[in-house]
Amino acid sequence: MSQAIRAVRGMNDILPAEAPLWTHFESVVRDWLAAYGYRELRTPILEHTGLFKRAIGEVTDIVEKEMYTFVDELNGESLTLRPEGTASGVRAVIEHNLLFDGGKRLWYMGPMFRHERPQKGRYRQFHQVGVEALGFAGPDLDVEHLLMTARLWKRLGLAHHVRLEINTLGGAASRARHRDKLIAYFETRREQLDEDAQRRLYSNPLRILDSKNPAMREMVEAAPKLMDELDEDALNHFAAVRQGLEDAGIAYRINPRLVRGLDYYNYTVFEWITDCLGAQGTVCAGGRYDGLVEQLGGKPAPACGFAMGVERLLALLAETGQTFAEPAPDAYIVNVGEAAGRFAQRAAETLRDAGLAVVLHGGGGSFKSQMKKADASGARHALIIGEDEAVAGELSIKPLRGGGEQRRVALDAAAMLLQAASTNPET
Ligand code: ATP
Ligand code: MG
Repeated sequence: MSQAIRAVRGMNDILPAEAPLWTHFESVVRDWLAAYGYRELRTPILEHTGLFKRAIGEVTDIVEKEMYTFVDELNGESLTLRPEGTASGVRAVIEHNLLFDGGKRLWYMGPMFRHERPQKGRYRQFHQVGVEALGFAGPDLDVEHLLMTARLWKRLGLAHHVRLEINTLGGAASRARHRDKLIAYFETRREQLDEDAQRRLYSNPLRILDSKNPAMREMVEAAPKLMDELDEDALNHFAAVRQGLEDAGIAYRINPRLVRGLDYYNYTVFEWITDCLGAQGTVCAGGRYDGLVEQLGGKPAPACGFAMGVERLLALLAETGQTFAEPAPDAYIVNVGEAAGRFAQRAAETLRDAGLAVVLHGGGGSFKSQMKKADASGARHALIIGEDEAVAGELSIKPLRGGGEQRRVALDAAAMLLQAASTNPET
């Protein structure tokens, strides 16, 4: 035997036993998005590398070290597997001029790719559901997103397992003032900065505040606060967001150190965090990014949005003890003999015509071994076809759950009996 090839490290298979959890999550998510009037946008998984450099920022974890970037050998273009969804979404909105008749509410779902160290809750291929509202300037959309996310946690049964942190990053002018003060502050404490922070001192000092290095914590806590630099507009916007949360009765904490790992944010930023998953506790993150559309070459348009990590939310669902069974078929057809096999194939198709879910035994074997498979399939009924039944055009229905006698009936009658059983689980 030759050696088996394994999946790429940090990239997971989602096996049939786990799929029902994903399906459940996705269907809750689709209903929830429809309830707010959001429309789906699907973009390619590959984009030009320049898109992410320009959108996310050159001096960010993602662009500096996490992107899967390669040269397309056929034409020399640099391409990147998308590390997040906002850049692609904004690119598509500009490219197709989607804002021509006003603001748009959009969502996407799919795999993202980041070359990080794989660990619990952190993978190299992971999935996000993202929501973007483009062309809306007011805090009402920020509030909508916060209310929306709160509702999703309720629908998923997670409301008691997540908490909300918010902050405001202000506008460009106040960020520039704050930046100057930060640089001055860190310059006088240069010996306490770690390697990342040294490198970012002039290129992106705000990101030093986001550092997870405990040795720098105290110094970071005492650094000049952006809050002190905010202009009236930013303060009013933030006050309206807080008011919206209070009107809706959603608890939150203001975290002045919340800055987010991407450059494009301004004004509101937020994270939903859980304490049930260890270090990888942020399950949803987002905020306002009013400059991005223009930065990517579009007509200036305000925007805000958020993305959630599907793997982390599913881990949280599992943590709360929620389980989701694979759907069981209505019937499993057991058949022995050549004529029986042919009739079984026809019977299965006829029953499917009647809207039933039917698994036809494959691979032969004795009645006894086939009955074991029928039982393990979770089907409500086994349908048994031997040479006798095949000749008569009949099948024997054996209830596998909840008792009842085995009965031999014609194919049409079997369809009706199974339909009745599938709409009325008590019979
Ligand atoms: P973190 O601080 O955990 O690295 P981030 O700020 O890089 O997160 P975002 O870019 O805001 O994350 O992505 C939004 C969400 O996507 C995160 O809150 C998280 O739930 C999820 N996520 C991000 N990176 C990964 C990953 N490598 N594996 C699994 N989920 C991830
Ligand atoms: Mg990250």
